[in-house]
Amino acid sequence: MMSLTVVSLPQRYKRLLQAMTLAVAVVYMTLLLYQSAYGYPGLQLQPQSQLDGNEPAATTTQQLQQQQLHSLPPTQSVAASASASSPPASASSLPASSPVAAAAVATPITPSLIIRKDIHSFNFSDIEVSERPAATLLTELARRSRNGELLHDLSQRAVTATPQPPTTELDDIFISVKTTKNYHDTRLALIIKTWFQLARDQTWFFTDTDDHYYQEKTKGHLINTKCSQGHFRKALCCKMSAELDIFLESGKKWFCHFDDDNYVNVPRLVKLLDEYSPSVDWYLGKPSISSPLEIHLDNKNTTTNKKITFWFATGGAGFCLSRALTLKMLPIAGGGKFISIGDKIRFPDDVTMGFIIEHLLKVPLTVVDNFHSHLEPMELIRSDTFQDQVSFSYAHMKNQWNVIKVDGFDLKADPKRFYSLHCQLFPYFSFCPPR
Ligand code: UDP
Ligand code: MN
Repeated sequence: MMSLTVVSLPQRYKRLLQAMTLAVAVVYMTLLLYQSAYGYPGLQLQPQSQLDGNEPAATTTQQLQQQQLHSLPPTQSVAASASASSPPASASSLPASSPVAAAAVATPITPSLIIRKDIHSFNFSDIEVSERPAATLLTELARRSRNGELLHDLSQRAVTATPQPPTTELDDIFISVKTTKNYHDTRLALIIKTWFQLARDQTWFFTDTDDHYYQEKTKGHLINTKCSQGHFRKALCCKMSAELDIFLESGKKWFCHFDDDNYVNVPRLVKLLDEYSPSVDWYLGKPSISSPLEIHLDNKNTTTNKKITFWFATGGAGFCLSRALTLKMLPIAGGGKFISIGDKIRFPDDVTMGFIIEHLLKVPLTVVDNFHSHLEPMELIRSDTFQDQVSFSYAHMKNQWNVIKVDGFDLKADPKRFYSLHCQLFPYFSFCPPR
């Protein structure tokens, strides 16, 4: 009947009908092409860091493993005692063959927005989390066959398509500096005069007192954490906890922590983070020990001790965490819980950070050699590479300064060498000699 009608229609209606069919076909093909190129709405493919290796299969497994951490009840617990084979405080950058260096190269891409479970469903009253065996993970993957297919599809495309990470700007970074009342006039003042001027809106100082003078100098960027003064574990963890919580509230893409004896090369920091995606889990920093830290955790339920090893980035060199990673940390370490974890393992703030990220969340430290703490001999940093370093430090030990070797002001005027360094990097500053 239909075809009869069509046949009996005048020629121009037939043409119109043909044209419409063609148009529908073209729209359909376009949609198909678009879908295959950009994926399904609601499922986002994370941009890949330029430094990443392409390991889609590992990505999927790691993704699920991390997800499992949130969805499984903890079976082991960390009791209030931990002992460590103490780290040698020597400053050695890691050999390229070390596990950390390897992790830095082989860290797979993590399309972290795919199937993330409700993080609140996890019981975080205890911090030790057990891993599910790989076979169970695969079974789980099979059970979610549709998601499995999509994951496979997405990771396949990750191999062929190489989307650029989003551009990182200074304003995407939350720079936090840990300081204390006794160092305001010395260390804080030096930072304010030098590198702080390049990141005034992005840098926040976490201290332990009110100080109207420096509050004004930093345009309100001095935060009194009300943590106790002193260089003991609890006080340091208290400040780190405050830094993390305020970063989480800030909505910024990157959290970078530094000590008040660090010089931060601001443009280089921005350039570094621009190479990574904030929506992928990144823990960027530099260890000060040449092998992973080994600690023994008491198990409440049995008499046995559990030995664990993990890397941590030295706080005194500075480190950065992507927002994606901090969001995973939020349920276990946010809202002051960072302090409780430090209390349980009884290690300083930077070790606690490594424990949470590497051990609990299974996110490996990516070693960035351009961070420097005074645990390294500063004079080994070549002056023609200053531009490329992210952070520097100094220390005065046994009547000797561990400082960078840099031309500029004399040692009396600039014993820590930060003014001279600053003038090398940014010679147009008012206190720098005319060139
Ligand atoms: N610090 C602190 N309270 C103190 C002593 C130090 O918050 O009582 C901070 C200090 O401001 C710095 C960090 O802890 O940011 C490391 O301190 P320091 O450089 O004196 O010691 P290090 O651990 O490097 O030997
Ligand atoms: Mn220090």
